Amino acid sequence: LPKRQVNLSLLLERVGSGKESLSFMRRRMRRLTAQWAAAARRLDERLRGQYREQKRILVHVGFLTEESGDVFSPKVLKGGPLGEMVQWADILTTLHVLGHNLKISLSVKELSLGIPPGRGSCPLTGPLPFDLIYTDYHGLQQMKQHMGLSFRQCHIRVIDTFGTEPAYNNEEYSTLHGYRTNWGYWNLNCKQYMTMFPHTPDNSFMGFVTEELNQTERFKIKRDKVNNMAVVYGKEASMWKGEEKLLTILHHYMDIHGTVYYEAQRPPEVPAFVRNHGLLPQQELQQLLRKAKLFLGFGFPYEGPAPLEAIANGCVFLQPKFSPPHSSLNHEFFRGKPTSREVSSQHPYTEQYIGKPHVITVDFNSSQEFETAVQDILKEKVEPFIPYEYTCEGMLERVNAYIQHQVCRHFSALRLFLSTEASSCVKTCRDSGLICEPAYFPFINNMESLEAEKNHVFPAVHVDRRECFQQKEPLLFSCAGVSAKHQRLCPCRDYLHGQVALCRDCL
Ligand code: UDP
Repeated sequence: LPKRQVNLSLLLERVGSGKESLSFMRRRMRRLTAQWAAAARRLDERLRGQYREQKRILVHVGFLTEESGDVFSPKVLKGGPLGEMVQWADILTTLHVLGHNLKISLSVKELSLGIPPGRGSCPLTGPLPFDLIYTDYHGLQQMKQHMGLSFRQCHIRVIDTFGTEPAYNNEEYSTLHGYRTNWGYWNLNCKQYMTMFPHTPDNSFMGFVTEELNQTERFKIKRDKVNNMAVVYGKEASMWKGEEKLLTILHHYMDIHGTVYYEAQRPPEVPAFVRNHGLLPQQELQQLLRKAKLFLGFGFPYEGPAPLEAIANGCVFLQPKFSPPHSSLNHEFFRGKPTSREVSSQHPYTEQYIGKPHVITVDFNSSQEFETAVQDILKEKVEPFIPYEYTCEGMLERVNAYIQHQVCRHFSALRLFLSTEASSCVKTCRDSGLICEPAYFPFINNMESLEAEKNHVFPAVHVDRRECFQQKEPLLFSCAGVSAKHQRLCPCRDYLHGQVALCRDCL
């Protein structure tokens, strides 16, 4: 059994502090040390006696390497994206706390020292010094270029914020059918891609953690909440552009705070009635959120950690509904990403998995709807809330389950559904309170059918011709796929409340 490691000093040392991004990650690890330790103890008690293997794990953080250009590190203190760093800090901590043997690589040079050239094809032809490698798309490219690793690599896990759908992942299919992007077509098993939120069950949900409150903090929040205080979501002034009208409406009811980065001589272009604190250290942002009643998003950034932090600190998150939904087909930000997922609001996870009273999603084109939402929020009393899967214990439990037995093979959980036309298996299962489980596809792909074809919506029934079609290419089994002409055969399973990645008998 690997021993849990609740002392993080060795990890902090290995992460180093050569750049702002690494310092940000270290600060986060340090601040959350006690929380991780308590969670590890609780999980240990629950899983006592369960067999676990200690794995040799390489973590190669591609986007922070100089070789990939590292555009993120210089922006850490200037309002650039921080979600990725939050997630990598938490992944590293999870693997460390679970007691695995960890090597961290932040440059191509360190990577080459870790894996000798030519090693590591799957199945193994030479001894690979690692059982598992966590990296990202940049890292994957670097590993291919510098080590000539042959793909499809079963040891690799790719941290992929927005997800990769099967139609984009399969090289031949994506090229023939217009799903080819700069990122996709690695022919991995799609479960090897690990996302920030549970977007599609075709991928694995990695997630991150949200800071938890102890009893004293909960008490203080209740005592100190300022009912008419709002914080606007957005570290850059561009995220506030064009929203003066809604801000003015909100200002009738509430004091508005912001955390927009600015340089000393150039205050940001936000209305004068906004109290801008400048970019805050994470800890100070938490303090601000503890006082505030409302956290308001204007549509960007998409799917970041901040709304979960706000909800965890007892704020209501008010966000715009997107109709039509944003996707790689109609929005610049998602263009070229290997997914057709339709993003129904700024933060669909909080909309779908948390909802009222913590999350209010309305059409911001209607100032009336917006104003009513603000009035309702002022009347509502809301408790701090964190979905279990975003707690340290939830993340440790999930990642441990992935490492010890990646796929759910409890067939008692399988439930079969035929979708309506133009509906994905993600939606079909969700409508029945279940989740699509791609690991089951091979077992349901045995209907009596005329033919087997490579098509990312198969197995399915043709709507007009009433013919059945089987899937010919296992890499194309897809929960996400949709076709107006087909009803899909969908394998669904139950899931643990607050831990959607795991089925009830999975632990
Ligand atoms: N954050 C921060 N200071 C601020 C605003 C945000 O430290 O003034 C942190 C916040 O705690 C969150 C992280 O930035 O964990 C990422 O925030 P966001 O949701 O904006 O996602 P991003 O677009 O940065 O990935």
